[in-house]
Amino acid sequence: MLGNIQLAGASLVVGPAGSGKTTHLRNRYLDLVRANEKGNLFLVHSRRAARALSQDILLELGTSTDQVRVTTWHSYGLSLLRNYYRRLGYRREPGLLTGPEQFTLVREMLDDPTEQKHWSAFPKQTRLAGFVEELREFVLRAQDALKSPEQLEDLARQAGRPDLEEAARFFRRYLTTLDARDDAVVDHANVIARAWQLLNESQDVADEVRAETKHLLVDDYQDVSPAQHELLRALFVTGGSVTATVNPDARIYGFRGSLPDAGAAFAKAFPGTQTIELSSSHRGTPETKAWQFDHLTEEADAIARECHRLRAREGIGWGDIAIIVRRYGPASRAIRGALDREGVPFVVVGENRPLAMEPVLIPLVELARAALRPAEREDRLPKLLASPVCELDPYEVRALRREAHIRGASLAAMIDAPAGELPEKIVAQLHRLRALIDDIADRNMRERPDQVFWFLWESLDYLRQAVADEDEDALDAVTAFAQAIERFSDRRPGKQFDDYLDVLEGVEFGPEPWHMPDERRPGAVRLLTAHNAAGTEHEAVIVAGCVEGEFPDPRDKRAMLDLRDLLAPASPFDRQMNRLAEERRLFNVATSRARRHMLLTCARESSQREPQVPSSFLHHLGLEWGTAPARPEPLTRDEAEATWRRTMRDASIADAERRDALDHIARLPGVDTQTWWYEHEWTDPGTPLVAEDLRTSYSRLSSYDNCALQYLYQVELGLDPDTSHQMLVGTWVHDIVDRCARGEIAGTEEALLAALDELWDPTVFESVAIEHRRKLDCREMLRRWLATDGNLETLASEVAFEFSIDGAVMRGRIDRVVRFAGSMVRLIDYKTGRNAKTDDEAAEDLQLASYYLALTRVPELAKLGKPKILQLAYLGAMPKSGGFMRAQVDPTKDPEFGEKAQARLEGFVHGIRAERFAPSAGADCKWCRFKTLCPVWPEGDEVPL
Ligand code: SF4
Repeated sequence: MLGNIQLAGASLVVGPAGSGKTTHLRNRYLDLVRANEKGNLFLVHSRRAARALSQDILLELGTSTDQVRVTTWHSYGLSLLRNYYRRLGYRREPGLLTGPEQFTLVREMLDDPTEQKHWSAFPKQTRLAGFVEELREFVLRAQDALKSPEQLEDLARQAGRPDLEEAARFFRRYLTTLDARDDAVVDHANVIARAWQLLNESQDVADEVRAETKHLLVDDYQDVSPAQHELLRALFVTGGSVTATVNPDARIYGFRGSLPDAGAAFAKAFPGTQTIELSSSHRGTPETKAWQFDHLTEEADAIARECHRLRAREGIGWGDIAIIVRRYGPASRAIRGALDREGVPFVVVGENRPLAMEPVLIPLVELARAALRPAEREDRLPKLLASPVCELDPYEVRALRREAHIRGASLAAMIDAPAGELPEKIVAQLHRLRALIDDIADRNMRERPDQVFWFLWESLDYLRQAVADEDEDALDAVTAFAQAIERFSDRRPGKQFDDYLDVLEGVEFGPEPWHMPDERRPGAVRLLTAHNAAGTEHEAVIVAGCVEGEFPDPRDKRAMLDLRDLLAPASPFDRQMNRLAEERRLFNVATSRARRHMLLTCARESSQREPQVPSSFLHHLGLEWGTAPARPEPLTRDEAEATWRRTMRDASIADAERRDALDHIARLPGVDTQTWWYEHEWTDPGTPLVAEDLRTSYSRLSSYDNCALQYLYQVELGLDPDTSHQMLVGTWVHDIVDRCARGEIAGTEEALLAALDELWDPTVFESVAIEHRRKLDCREMLRRWLATDGNLETLASEVAFEFSIDGAVMRGRIDRVVRFAGSMVRLIDYKTGRNAKTDDEAAEDLQLASYYLALTRVPELAKLGKPKILQLAYLGAMPKSGGFMRAQVDPTKDPEFGEKAQARLEGFVHGIRAERFAPSAGADCKWCRFKTLCPVWPEGDEVPL
């Protein structure tokens, strides 16, 4: 002991998230430095944690960096290998293989013809990327477990697993290849295993290293691998100290083979371990709420809005807000889109971003592809010409294309010989591009890939401009590109820039990834995965995508070559239980990061083929799923103005509140109440706007139901005449279904699909990909319709009707009426969209209400039978279990169904006749295209009629 500092022995600090374990280690580190103790080493799992702790300790000490040794396990292991590389037989300091490089190495080994004879258990699989990936994982996990190939081979033999025996023998060949490579490389797991080997096999090295590791501090011991555990034992100096923190409830890397009970292993490895229990959380209890939504887009929008609210109302800076997802995927993409739209600055932490997709690199890569792949040049030129490489504007590109067309030449030919009559700027750019292309092609043949890159860096003005503009995102991406291509040039001698383009595109393993350095963006919301969130702390946390399948993800992704079958065999049931326990711990990690506010969100995606189920883990927090506030508080000036305008419009709100709203608006700077046209009387054009013999339909009245002003614009003024390909596809499917129901098309799959081919017009789609997808969807819709509804007894199909509502003509067309039972009938309306309504919503549906009136009032329809079921059938919402989703109502259960339907329609007709077209205070404005013409929105302006 020195003062209060324990200088020898082992301590284990045990506690839940937020109990101050890391702070305990940090304080101990500071005490040791202040006590002039040497040989302090602080090991953590992530670079982010190492960076944060180093900065914190440096700030506290106010001293130079060489006194602070906070590092990751892998950085430390690599530094040992580089210091003592000769002792391990390397000719030079070993390089660390990235994931893609290791994948390539394994694949190249398997591609060797001599390798085939070793794989009798997998005669065909060795060329598959999935098998390469499994083998890559196998050798990593074997090294993490610190098992030799011979040990694994024995275990596999005893277990009667010849396939794993072959994998174990490959492991031996893999290690030999790593060692034999001229340029000396190690993979991530090899770093730790080799460091451990170094200390065990060379006593003098071990003595030298241990002189620098007198005091060991290790955070998050629950996540160490057996190899890291053994390395720690090897670093421990008799008479020195070792302190580790552990939270058994945060063990989230079991799937990678972390120690099952790290605390017990630590105590066993260091006899006499003193345990320090920290029980309370210093983070306090955050205010927590949980919202569920129907759709992912709604969830994402609400998250972006919550970020604004936290900042505006709670005073929490962007950098103190974290959004945690299970993994990067559809949910995180939707959230990123919403954050972008809503102007929330954010950074994605630890994401593998494809380097080739970085905006600043796209022109550079396009130029290289155009230069080195002449066959692709013509396709790439339009984009390249309009990019910062050539800086032609769209009109100039069009002029060039027109000229090429007149001359009957390709764009590539225009670059070779620009026409003299083109504007000077275009000719100059074409000459410059030609010279660049020649230069790149030439250098590609004789220079290393990184030298070609530096040539591009010097030649392209827009890259220099990025430096001048101090565009951080762009410069980070360019730096990552430079590092990656330099590493590629070092590791793959003889390869060209063109070969590196393959790596960028992910031909071998996946696109070349890079991590944006999130620490450089402190003023941005953090978007991160639950695994990345371990060890972090934030003022406010939003845990998004809390649905079954994500939290928890119960799938036990077992591999063919699963090392656990040898090292920890378990029954399928036990494996599943272990998996669920780990998922629960991961959820705990995600939900224990917040200091003040926590929001959990999920989207049921009720209209999708497979609706999502909100996570049952919520109950562990003692919470129930609720909904977001229907009328959220305004957060910006524009929102406040819009809200006040709506309040003013809403006759159901108390007069005093409406006057207050008026008062607020009138006092807003820049607002001219004289321009609010709806405050004036309607201009009387002298003739009625609505025709005397009003002819309408349910869809028109639905528009009026949502908002009378929207109806005016859309229906009476015809301002929204768009036809989308979705509508056309719907028409085609309806047509085929109708003809089949009438017997005009045979009720066979072949006949329906042939009819679809006949109607199909590929030119109405924006892209080939969309056309392809929609056609597959349509084929599947028709197949399912045939299987489920094809044989129903049809009483009427595509039958038009008209009836009167208070003097107005109500028109429509019923898709199908089929026999229900006896004299009862079922009405079916087919939809090709995916957003299915619920039965409750069907009971309120205006279309079904009007069809009911038609079935009971139009004599030809009434004689078909009494309506028993009114049904909406969503051909586009196809659950995996088969069929399609339906929503329905039974009108016989409500004796007043018809009267209510009649009253609703009459109300709308009266409103239209009276030309009541004020915007509705309760309208769903989300998809309305008339906001710029709408007085309840700040951007709305007067419409000259
Ligand atoms: S924006 Fe809303 S209130 Fe205005 S016209 Fe559209 S639906 Fe009606």
